[in-house]
Amino acid sequence: MDKLSSKIRMEFLGFFKNNGCTVVPSDSLIPTGDKTLLFTSAGMVQFKQHFLGQSKDSFTRVSSCQKCFRTSDINQIGTTARHLTFFEMLGNFSFGDYFKKETAAWAWEFLTKNMSLPKDKLYITIYKDDDEVAGIWKSIAPANKIIRMDEKTNFWNMGATGPCGPCSEILIDWGQETGCGSPTCGPDCSCDRYLEIWNLVFTQFDRQSDGLLKNLPRKNIDTGMGLERLVAAVNGRKNVFDTDLFIPVMENAAEILKIENEGRNTSKLRMIADHSRAVTFLISDGILPSNEGRGYVLRRILRRALRQGKFYGYNKPFINKLVSDVFKTMEDAYPELSSKLNNIQSIVKTEEEKFLETLEAGSAILSSIINSYKSKGMNIISGKDVFKLYDTYGFPHDLAKEVASENGLEIDEDGFKSEQKNAQEKSRAAWCGSGERDITFYSILHKKTGDTVFTGYDNYANESRVL
Ligand code: ATP
Ligand code: MG
Ligand code: MG
Ligand code: MG
Repeated sequence: MDKLSSKIRMEFLGFFKNNGCTVVPSDSLIPTGDKTLLFTSAGMVQFKQHFLGQSKDSFTRVSSCQKCFRTSDINQIGTTARHLTFFEMLGNFSFGDYFKKETAAWAWEFLTKNMSLPKDKLYITIYKDDDEVAGIWKSIAPANKIIRMDEKTNFWNMGATGPCGPCSEILIDWGQETGCGSPTCGPDCSCDRYLEIWNLVFTQFDRQSDGLLKNLPRKNIDTGMGLERLVAAVNGRKNVFDTDLFIPVMENAAEILKIENEGRNTSKLRMIADHSRAVTFLISDGILPSNEGRGYVLRRILRRALRQGKFYGYNKPFINKLVSDVFKTMEDAYPELSSKLNNIQSIVKTEEEKFLETLEAGSAILSSIINSYKSKGMNIISGKDVFKLYDTYGFPHDLAKEVASENGLEIDEDGFKSEQKNAQEKSRAAWCGSGERDITFYSILHKKTGDTVFTGYDNYANESRVL
């Protein structure tokens, strides 16, 4: 019998509670204390003030299981064995309290004793110049499992200046058959074989504008471990989707889509399961589908998940039916979900219905555009054609791009952007006011800041900078 995720989550928090940490509940996926971020993408986000010594809270060591959402990994979902958009990050933190020695010892103890992970399969990466941590790890783990790496993976920065420091990551070797097969494949390879489970960040420096690293007066610890990866590792599963957090959702999706047993672990089904969890949690934290900001990201992943159904010949709403499976696996850890089931289901269903209507009309037109390009031997669809599809029929540009690429065609992106700009200018020129009495404030603001362009989706990589 597999060890359940709910038990592992509780054991983690219990372990750190026993080590004097205050257990702090997860923050919302909309970061409450940081307006600069679109989503909470790591456990440390809610503790930024504590790290900077600006919090009034009295605790100096805490632990949490934080709901996270990362769009930076969106294109990997289903294709790697370890990436998710929505995941839970287990973490322990120190604000000027314990430091490297305790962090390393506790991480090793928790993984090898409490979780019984095999010591011989674990690797530890350290920052190449961090001799202090090298000494600590050598007293804990075999020397041949400690690997020095460079700043790309093992040095954390919050920005160009400010708090930063080396980190250690703990990886588990999932076996040769899960790797890329390259003769140089090792713990520094980005394939799935050496699964990164825990990142331990030692925030000990304050980088000055001239690049100099000054010692911080109060050193901090920030760790993050994906619950799903840990659950997979503990149960000897080679894939995060092969755990109790996903199986019920994937099984129900397979039933609905009438997928036979052998096709039940495809990247499409995995994507459906991941996105259904994300959609459920994003809505439960108050985000609604819309055309901008967080709502746009939600809309996009919901539509993406729904579109996978078409691959199996299924043309009806079905993501709303998976919400209750997500609830089954998560409700005990997030009891606040329970009053929201009907509401989330109906928001998802309405959005699905709306999108299927748009899809139907737009897809037929897009197919004829694609066919006509193909018949002429052309492989780049003009921006004008794609913009018309978007502007007149509401067919999303990114979806047109995906469908075009499935058919071996590309889209003239510059052409699309210039069509979009022309249309914006036309509509601005035609605008006679919205009926509001006083828009002076907005015009002053506009003069100061210029046009506001939502770049959150394209620039999503910034979000993951926190760990
Ligand atoms: P990877 O190299 O596998 O992409 P990462 O280095 O980007 O992971 P960190 O930013 O260090 O990850 O986050 C800390 C921990 O959170 C990771 O060690 C991992 O356990 C978990 N984690 C990070 N990104 C994801 C994700 N997309 N899905 C699931 N778990 C994740
Ligand atoms: Mg990553
Ligand atoms: Mg990594
Ligand atoms: Mg990492």
